[in-house]
Amino acid sequence: MSDTPATTPSHFIQKIIEQDLLDNKNDGRVLTRFPPEPNGYLHIGHAKSICLNFGIAEQFSGGCNLRFDDTNPAKEDVEFVEAIKQDVSWLGFEWQQPVLFTSNYFQQLYNFACVLIKAGKAYVCDLQADQIREYRGTLTQPGKDSPGRDRTIEENLALFEAMKNGEFGDGERVLRARIDMASPNINLRDPVIYRVKRATHHQTGDQWCIYPMYDFAHCMSDALEGITHSLCTLEFEDHRPLYNWFIENSGVDCHPQQIEFSRLSLEHTVVSKRVLSGLVENGHVSGWDDPRMPTLAGMRRRGYSAAAVRDFCQKIGVTKSDNMVEMAFLESCVREDLQDQALRVMGVLRPLKVIIENFPEGTTEDLIASNHPQDESMGTRTIPFSRTVYIDQEDFRESANKKYKRLKTDSEVRLRYGYVIRCNEVIKDEQGEIIELRCTYDPDTLGVNPEDRKVKGVIHWVSVEHALEAEVQVYDRLFSVANPAAEENISSVVNPESLISFPNAQLEPGLLNAVAGQGYQFEREGYFCRDIADNDSGKPVFNRTVALRDSWAKIEKKG
Ligand code: ATP
Ligand code: MG
Repeated sequence: MSDTPATTPSHFIQKIIEQDLLDNKNDGRVLTRFPPEPNGYLHIGHAKSICLNFGIAEQFSGGCNLRFDDTNPAKEDVEFVEAIKQDVSWLGFEWQQPVLFTSNYFQQLYNFACVLIKAGKAYVCDLQADQIREYRGTLTQPGKDSPGRDRTIEENLALFEAMKNGEFGDGERVLRARIDMASPNINLRDPVIYRVKRATHHQTGDQWCIYPMYDFAHCMSDALEGITHSLCTLEFEDHRPLYNWFIENSGVDCHPQQIEFSRLSLEHTVVSKRVLSGLVENGHVSGWDDPRMPTLAGMRRRGYSAAAVRDFCQKIGVTKSDNMVEMAFLESCVREDLQDQALRVMGVLRPLKVIIENFPEGTTEDLIASNHPQDESMGTRTIPFSRTVYIDQEDFRESANKKYKRLKTDSEVRLRYGYVIRCNEVIKDEQGEIIELRCTYDPDTLGVNPEDRKVKGVIHWVSVEHALEAEVQVYDRLFSVANPAAEENISSVVNPESLISFPNAQLEPGLLNAVAGQGYQFEREGYFCRDIADNDSGKPVFNRTVALRDSWAKIEKKG
């Protein structure tokens, strides 16, 4: 599935692996893993990690495991396990069978902890969480020993077993690695490796009441699976000595290499499951798959293709320096992908009725429209034309200067793929709102320009009698500031105009057969796709995937 062109220069991780292969390290094997915690849906940041891990596996004829890092049962759920599997498959990657869970190894992890205890390298500590924090010291001051640090091996083994057997309450005791309370790296100041936690686990039920901590479980799981390169984000750089310490002291014979790369951050959105779950819970969005969400489920529903997301991940590259990527860049990848393949259609978002008075009543004329004006191979379709059509309210003004190329009173415009019409009269309701235009058409202008005058404007339209009424959702940035994660109150910067709904949009009838996932260009309006569900009143819903061009940059500059 890798679409990395052969000409793309290698990034630093590819270079490390190329060298490892030359040195015949790991007997020439390459095995990576993608290790999500099933506590939410995957987002665009995860896509970067997926493309990296699975991409490396493909490039070097190795494999990639999908391993759920499920050591925190209180926050996890099978709903997330299933959603994550679906998202990885959708992105186009295949994991080594079967799907793995850290919880598969709970017994082995317990045994490794006992190995550490027996070597005098782990002990049971009675301090409470806040005391542990206090004893840990600071960057400038060494930590203080816990009273439990000097327990005998026998006592530690017995207490650890008692922890496992449920003899202590949650948080009452923990198992800690015995490393160095004065280490300049605070991660090495006797980190906690097991805690007591009573919570039913989605995979192991009530079998365990102690759970391993991430730093311990992660490296040991990597080693158990024979992972060769454990790729993670930069915040784990300071944990690498701990990763290595656990591996070296637990008696495993595999030593995966941890390599860190920078996280993806994207402007105007957030890439943190915790924050995204808050948006769902507080009702700022309709769910994890709300098309405004930077989740894979949301982007898929919005009409982003897997190829566009992979293309984006490839273009942003893999480095060690943190940076914020502009949303416009992701959108340009989406647009580029749709540009060539989206079928062109017409859809009117803000319908205004036009009566063509000299067109015979009760007749329909089939007009031929091109499915992609730049690509003849995509063929044509027929669209019905009749006496009454909808145009967009924004394509009409009662009066305007010469620069205005759309329809105005006593002037002409061409209906796309159809005739030139002239507006003769404007009908308003009692409030003065325009409700209807009375026009006439020139029957000699189908596919040809009138000889005696110039008609410059071309607008889109839909026949009233044949139109498919739909709800159209137009999305914008979810947050009105570039870096919402930096805000104290993230709710206050949710963009109130991130969703604008057009409940009575009128579309070409052929769109009744549109399926979710197929992209369309509504001419002059943007790229759209059908939503996964119709709305409550049974109308099809169409989501705007992306605008035709980047209007945001302009708006931002204007302030
Ligand atoms: P979150 O804060 O959203 O929960 P996480 O890192 O805690 O993110 P995990 O489920 O542990 O989420 O992540 C699985 C993998 O995805 C990890 O290897 C992690 O490094 C990677 N990952 C997560 N977020 C990003 C990101 N923004 N950019 C690149 N990789 C990421
Ligand atoms: Mg995590």
